[in-house]
Amino acid sequence: MTVKIGTIGDRIANRLSRAFPGPTSEIAPARPIVSFSFDDAPRSAWRDGAAILEAAGGRGTYYLAGDLILNHARELDLTPAEGCVDLAARGHELGCHTFSHVKLASMSRKALAADLDRNERFLRELDGRTARRNFAVPYTMMSPGRQALLRSRFRSSRSGWPAVNRGMTNLQGLGAVELRQSLFDPDAIAAWLDDLARRPGWLIFFTHHVRDNPPGDYGLSPQNFEAAVNAVAARGFDILTVDAALDRIGIAR
Ligand SMILES: [Zn+2]
Repeated sequence: MTVKIGTIGDRIANRLSRAFPGPTSEIAPARPIVSFSFDDAPRSAWRDGAAILEAAGGRGTYYLAGDLILNHARELDLTPAEGCVDLAARGHELGCHTFSHVKLASMSRKALAADLDRNERFLRELDGRTARRNFAVPYTMMSPGRQALLRSRFRSSRSGWPAVNRGMTNLQGLGAVELRQSLFDPDAIAAWLDDLARRPGWLIFFTHHVRDNPPGDYGLSPQNFEAAVNAVAARGFDILTVDAALDRIGIAR
């Protein structure tokens, strides 16, 4: 369910969402902030990813799709519901990733709203949170026609557009850099962190599995994930959940 399915229309819509962002908020932290996030929450992101982050004094954001967790956790090797409860208890953040894990534009606004309500009920059972949540766009395919709906419901929405978030920014299209085993490059990570050191901002990484030979190359090995986390920690940058980063930046809840 982590396969990126993007038609030409999807990619144009994704690009338009970036080109016409709508309302923006200023992101100008005094010190660099880095977040690590996991889409779909594979079991290894819970088992190994969380411990690696905690060892560096950080916490992660896990974007969950209720249908995948409740009905497909075994076949897709995802974190079971009790693991999600454990993550929340340890200070990690549970974010929304739709209930059905479908592309935003594939559902009507009404159907999408109902789907998001359903996932909110699922997530609230896990962590009891009542405040607005953060969201990650399935398949990283943004849709201009769904921006207003996201803005009305979520504190932020994360895309898959590789960029540091700084300056006037659409919080419903946050940039994020994907970590993948086949593309893993410590120099590339160092370049992103150098950029962050020169001009403070907020860099979000996202991945899926944290295990050797991640299925479909969606993820990276524990060794490489640890190297990425340690590269951030070695620079003294704060590793915060998406929610804590927004607090630090001064975005209203
Ligand atoms: Zn996903």
